[in-house]
Amino acid sequence: MRFTRLRLNGFKSFVDPTDLVIADGLTGVVGPNGCGKSNLLEALRWVMGENRPTAMRGGGMEDVIFAGTATRPARNFAEVALIIDNGERLAPAAFNDSDSLDITRRITRDAGSAYKVGTKDVRARDVQMLFADASTGAHSPALVRQGQISELINAKPTSRRRILEEAAGISGLYQRRHEAELKLKGAEANLLRVDDVVGQLA
Ligand code: ATP
Repeated sequence: MRFTRLRLNGFKSFVDPTDLVIADGLTGVVGPNGCGKSNLLEALRWVMGENRPTAMRGGGMEDVIFAGTATRPARNFAEVALIIDNGERLAPAAFNDSDSLDITRRITRDAGSAYKVGTKDVRARDVQMLFADASTGAHSPALVRQGQISELINAKPTSRRRILEEAAGISGLYQRRHEAELKLKGAEANLLRVDDVVGQLA
């Protein structure tokens, strides 16, 4: 899965529609302090389903919407689209009918987030699983923020293990295991109830 473009509209400091081409190989973002380098990385995490406002350096999710300046009014929505090369047809079957996939997340004030893959409305979970199965996502160790290298060096073995699991492509399986465990617990609770009912009938 290769990211080819990132489009932003009203996301944090990127108030005007901005279209970035992501070329092959390593991508570095350089610029003066406060020009929006970290905002770009956050846009990538956000479109892949990041749901913790703290990871976006905000108090609430709506803080990603352009808040206005002395000369420009605040916006009512923010939108980020990530365009992915799907030439190898590695996307899940439901979205696997084209060479390129557009994954879009849009947040509107007081209305929350909506996701699309191409023109199809999808759930946050669909987008998160799409990236997790491709060994990437909002928590991917491939997205290196400021200070992260020293955190890694000082990290506990359990945190390092998470990074290795991401690289091995098994983090999507953890999510599915968690969901399966929840279903199992639900089934066990239902069985107990059935036992109670049978006991009352006997
Ligand atoms: P540094 O090199 O200092 O880390 P940076 O290039 O990573 O800086 P960012 O932290 O990405 O810069 O961008 C900070 C800028 O984004 C600030 O000017 C801040 O005012 C602006 N900003 C953040 N959130 C919003 C928002 N919701 N609306 C408008 N501007 C915002």
